[in-house]
Amino acid sequence: MRAKLVAANWKMNGSVYLIEKMLDVLVPCMSNTTCKVVICPPNVLLSSLKNAVEGTGIEIGAQNVHSELSGAYTGETSVKLLKEFGVKWCIIGHSERRIHFEESDDFIRSKIETLIDHGIIPILCIGESLEQRDSGTHEKTVLTQLRNGLAGLSIEDQRRCVVAYEPIWAIGTGKTASPEQANFMHTIIRKEIKSLAGKEIADNFQILYGGSVNVENTKSLLSMSEIDGALVGGASLITDDFTQIVATEFN
Ligand code: PEP
Repeated sequence: MRAKLVAANWKMNGSVYLIEKMLDVLVPCMSNTTCKVVICPPNVLLSSLKNAVEGTGIEIGAQNVHSELSGAYTGETSVKLLKEFGVKWCIIGHSERRIHFEESDDFIRSKIETLIDHGIIPILCIGESLEQRDSGTHEKTVLTQLRNGLAGLSIEDQRRCVVAYEPIWAIGTGKTASPEQANFMHTIIRKEIKSLAGKEIADNFQILYGGSVNVENTKSLLSMSEIDGALVGGASLITDDFTQIVATEFN
């Protein structure tokens, strides 16, 4: 059985104070959860988070990385620095980066290679816009993003990735994909991974759902057979809500 993973995407939010407040509530629940828990704060908070999570079982993620290891890339962060701060996971290709920073599939793929080369697990985000869903091109869009994101990776490196299916129309909107809609998309994503990397890798591949996950809908979403966890934005900033999401019992 695939383990469940719940990852918090704090986006450009949070503070040293939120780390303290969050861990006060979350840490006592860590012994009751079967999920792996990852917090992805803004990079300037990585050092504080690293100190705070020591010995708690909570793991550290980043929200982005540059594909190059160093150089004249003002404002960017190197994977080597992420490693220094204990980062084990990194969100890649989030729709906000694709839209606001015009990140291409090719750039996203090169970041994934850099992460894998340095032992950090990429969480590749893929998902369709409302227009694409309404026009019936959502499956093609998502599978193209998946294929392009994993293009050129060896089968063993594909094993080292996680995918988050995040329909853009559900991100931060309060509109969630229904468990059936999400499960269907996860099924076609897993089928595609099977054709790229084989059955064994596909069967063990973690596919998260993201898009307005909250306390009320976590159980129904994460109880679906193909949904292996959640990438949580807004609700991950609310200490009680995120803790309840992590502590939810799944079927
Ligand atoms: C996200 O940005 O990854 C996300 C899922 O956000 P939200 O939960 O707020 O929709």
